[in-house]
Amino acid sequence: MELYPLPEVDARYVDIGDLPTGFAPYDFNRLYIREFSVAELKLLYQGMHSRVRPIEHTFRAIQRCISAPVLALTDGDLEFVMAWLRMHSYPKAPLQVTWTCRQSNLVYPNRDFYKGPTPSSRDIKMKGLVEETCNTNNVNIVNKFGTRLNTLKSDDLHVDFEDLAMPTADTLSDFFQAVEDEPHNRHMLECARWVKMGSTLKQKMARLLKQPDMEMYENILECMRRFQHGVEDYMELQCRECNYTWAHENKPKLLSFFADNTEEDIFKIQYSLMAEFGHQYDPNIPAKMLLFNYSSLAKDKQKAAERRSGFKSMG
Ligand SMILES: [Zn+2]
Repeated sequence: MELYPLPEVDARYVDIGDLPTGFAPYDFNRLYIREFSVAELKLLYQGMHSRVRPIEHTFRAIQRCISAPVLALTDGDLEFVMAWLRMHSYPKAPLQVTWTCRQSNLVYPNRDFYKGPTPSSRDIKMKGLVEETCNTNNVNIVNKFGTRLNTLKSDDLHVDFEDLAMPTADTLSDFFQAVEDEPHNRHMLECARWVKMGSTLKQKMARLLKQPDMEMYENILECMRRFQHGVEDYMELQCRECNYTWAHENKPKLLSFFADNTEEDIFKIQYSLMAEFGHQYDPNIPAKMLLFNYSSLAKDKQKAAERRSGFKSMG
């Protein structure tokens, strides 16, 4: 496997543009990237189903698609790269979300929802309103969703504490492993990733714990606030029962970032395309094409089966 691809000779690579850090922490100022092919999809699949250091398979897949060392990227830049790959490597599919509405509503005795300004306690009594938690299970096709980008402030790009640096991907695998082993230690492990000295997370942690006072720890907390960057997923969900609109935001979970894009097993997809539809695939075709072909062929097949059994497919 080529470690860093040569974007100048490979037309699949495009310039990603600016990173959330503005390339401030690096000795390179340009990043080339290409979408996933089938070969990377297999690595991702291994990562999702591996019990031992799953993120390392994901890193290998990403490394094959970018022109800079993936392990040198800060967490926020890595999120940005992953978001780019997700957006460009999968067919656009409507996002389906299952969730339970926990909204608290005022309800009339006839079960209608009270709508309007907050009523006085006298009104509540007169109208016989009761407060109830909705608890409706919703399955929504989400139309309003996307990714929000947080960049570093352009006048504050560099960590000015000599013994600290922005955490990079090279301590992430150790970090996830350590959190699994000792979940109660999560906060200190997060802090240790900021320590510059030491090549492993263990050495960084030892360094942090050896400090005679709280200064380093307090500087780390300051940096965590000051240098926040990366991406955030957001979506808007509406409850079918009480119409409550829920704006949901969260940091992407790196370990399962690509997992929900296709629940189907990539090997199963490939074999069924070969066996049932006679398609031969080479590992270099774009992942998007394989997934798209699979979903449209599977749909055609289902329609044909329905026609044979005399069942009329709706729509
Ligand atoms: Zn509701």
